[in-house]
This record gives sequence, structure tokens and C-alpha cells, in this order.
Amino acid sequence: MSKAYVVPPFKIKMVEPLRKISRKARIQKLKEAGYNPFALRSEDVFIDLLTDSGTGAMSHFQWSAMMQGDESYAGSRSYYHLEKVVKDITGYAYVLPAHQGRGAEQIVIPQLVQRPGMFFISNMHFDTTRAHVELAGARALDVVDDDCFDTEKYCPFKGNFDLVKLENLIKDKQPENIAGIIMTVTNNSAGGQPVSLANMCAVKKMADHYGIKTIIDGARYAENAYFISVREETCKTMTIRQIARQMFDCADIFLMSAKKDGLVNIGGLIAIKDDEQLFKACRTYMVPMEGFPTYGGLAGRDLEAMAIGLQEALDKHYLAHRIDEVRYLGDRLRAAGVPIQHPTGGHAVFVDGGKMCPHIPYHQFPAQAVVNELYIEGGIRAVEIGSMMLGRDPDTRAQLKSHLELIRLTIPRRTYTYTHLDFVADCLIAVYQRRHTLKGYTFVYEPEVLRHFTAVLKPLE
Ligand SMILES: *Cc1c(COP(=O)(O)O)cnc(C)c1O
Repeated sequence: MSKAYVVPPFKIKMVEPLRKISRKARIQKLKEAGYNPFALRSEDVFIDLLTDSGTGAMSHFQWSAMMQGDESYAGSRSYYHLEKVVKDITGYAYVLPAHQGRGAEQIVIPQLVQRPGMFFISNMHFDTTRAHVELAGARALDVVDDDCFDTEKYCPFKGNFDLVKLENLIKDKQPENIAGIIMTVTNNSAGGQPVSLANMCAVKKMADHYGIKTIIDGARYAENAYFISVREETCKTMTIRQIARQMFDCADIFLMSAKKDGLVNIGGLIAIKDDEQLFKACRTYMVPMEGFPTYGGLAGRDLEAMAIGLQEALDKHYLAHRIDEVRYLGDRLRAAGVPIQHPTGGHAVFVDGGKMCPHIPYHQFPAQAVVNELYIEGGIRAVEIGSMMLGRDPDTRAQLKSHLELIRLTIPRRTYTYTHLDFVADCLIAVYQRRHTLKGYTFVYEPEVLRHFTAVLKPLE
């Protein structure tokens, strides 16, 4: 069904004009950007689906709360407002703000690594999380269910841990060498795919058995809770908040990029269930890294906007519309034969670039080729999630081969209409129809860490 059927539960009160430059100009701008859309100026982009991170629209409640921000350096009223909201949602005892998700990661992850040679296990580490694990001297291992690599197979929870792989890995590496189990909900890197509550509970049970801490990397925990509410039989009568609370019961630590389900343009969170010693260690480390513990790298007004945004993101009408926009774009593409991760996840449609361009090998980045062609076609900016983003093995420096070569069409929250998405679908379908003509890429400049942000590429002949 490719009908748009969830009426937006909001009306628009402020607009930002969009401009589409000519095709000739787009070809030139892409070349100047080193064939890396991260280097494009946003004013040269017509519809920006690079990320859903910090790109959403705030409500008038958030904008008015910002006027009430308390900009005191220490003990800000806005901190206590945020703390109350986060405690209510999570049931956790300790709350620290951070400037964004990676700010939270840089504080907490090093505290969990007691010595060299430790491991974190996740369904799938997000790229900055993986980077912080490696910077802390540990290694990041993924044990997502293999269903997530079969883009055509319908599974309600493609973000789930493979519990057998998880237990084998714990035994293989020894429980005392596991610094933590990170539940990424939703699973960003595999299509914003949800993790079921049953799976999270099973992971928690196993972690408790082996004495390992569990961490929710929950940038999109509210979207995950929505999927649970519509897809998990035992949860259908529960509210989104009740489901979220049960998710948090499955972990000891919550790290969040509030730029996603916090509905703010900047912000992050650390919440700790009951480990006072860990909280104190984080609080101490925060001062030189993020700032005094009651502002964490943010202005008081940002804390206010986050406190309101976290609550709005748990509204089921908001979530139903948000998830339906993603579903709609996915259905339009599928109807035209474009291979996508099915079902669509919470924040993005993931197009299978490996299937679309089997003539381009992984080390020439097939998904990057589609991303670049889509910009030329319609001024649409998407992002590669594949071998280009995965990078090299930190020990051998060999190019790693991603399980999937994906093009992520990320939908900002409360920002684009179904009509914008129709235009995106039309452009991508046009690219799909000329997919055989696309060419791979190689590096002109390749940074060592998180290379995809600043790399310079050139097309291969
Ligand atoms: C975005 C994200 C992060 C990092 O957050 P930033 O706010 O971008 O620093 C970490 N984990 C997941 C799952 C994310 O989606």
C-alpha cells in the first residue's frame, strides 16, 4: 500500500524556503565537494536526507520553553527540569546532560574499560560508538541477528541480538573481558530496525548471569517503543511510556543523542540506573570534557527544549505519522522495483546499493555511487552506510567489507511532507532505471578515523 494515510498531527507555522540549483550546477558542486556529499553546502541541496540528527522541527512549546532557559553556570533550574523528565521516563537515579550523543559516549565508555584488551558487544555499534570504544582501547563486536542482512525478508524486529552468537562470544572472550553489552535501539546502522522487548529482556538476563553491564544506546528509543507497541503481541495494550520504561528496566546505563528522539537540534544524555560510583566517576570526568555536570556543554535553553522534546517524542500520534512517512517512501520505491531494506525502519529508508549495482565491487563503494547520482538527479542528499563508512580494520588497515552496501534516505522529524517524499521517490526511481551506467569511486584523500565525513573521492573510469 503506497497511500499516505496518517494525517500529520501538527500544522505548519514557520517555513524555510527551499531552492533547487540547476542540474549543471549540481554536477559542478558535487565535483567541488570531492564526490562526498558531506562537503556540499546545504544551500546547494534541495531536499536534505543526510541525517535525522538535529535536523527536525521544534514545536512552539519547545521554542517558548527556550525563553525560560536558566543560564546559570551551576545548579540551573533548567537542569532540574530535564532531570525530572528523564527520571520519569527511565526510572533511573542519575542524569547528566551532554552536548550530543558522542559527548555522552566519550564520558561513559572510558569508565567501563578497566584494562587493555576488553570488548564491547552490541547488536550493532553505531559508528561514533565504535570509535569511542576503540579510542578507549577496547574492541567492538557485533552480534545482530542474520535476518537483518536479508533485505527482502520480512521480520518485525531486524535489530534483534542473535542470542546464541552473543552467548558464544561471551564464553569465547571470557565474561570478565566484556566491558559492556550495548543495545542499539533502534539499530541505526541496519536500517533503523527495532529490537523487541523480549530480545532486550533476554539480553539483560544473560548479562546478569555473566555479571556484565548493559547499556542502551537509545537515540531512537521512542521509535523503538512504537514498533514494539504495534508489532509485539504482548505489548499491544501498553502505552509508549510503559514500553519505554520496560526497555529501560533491561539496562544499567542509557546513552542518548537527543538530536533524534529528543526532538532538539543539539543535545545528549547520560542516565545511570543506580551505580553511584559510576555516576560519580562520570561526573568528575565531565568537567574537563563536556562542562559542569548541570549543563554538560549545553545552554540552559537547550536543556529546556530537550525536556519538552523528550516528552513530545513519546506521543503515539506523533510517532504514528513519523513512522508512516518512512513507510510511505519505502512502499513507493518497492512498488517500482527498487531493492530496499524491508520492512522500513524508524527513521530512514535504506536502499540496497549492493543489489542495485552488482557491477561495482565493495571497495569501489556502490552505495556511494547511487548517493552521488541521486544528488545529480534531484539535488537530494542521502548518505552511504556501507564499506565506505565501515572503513579499515584498526589492526591490519585492510578495507573491511560491509555486510550491506546501503543508501540511507533519512527523514528529519516534522520537516518534510508526503509531497517532498514523492519527489524523492521519483528521483531515485529514475536513478534506478539507469543503474547500469553508474561507476565506482576511489580515494584521493582518506582520513584515518571516521573517514567518510571528510574523504575526497574520484570516480573510476
Ligand atoms: C546519532 C547516534 C549516536 C551519536 O550521537 P551524536 O548526537 O551524533 O553525537 C550514537 N548512537 C546512535 C545509535 C546514534 O544514532
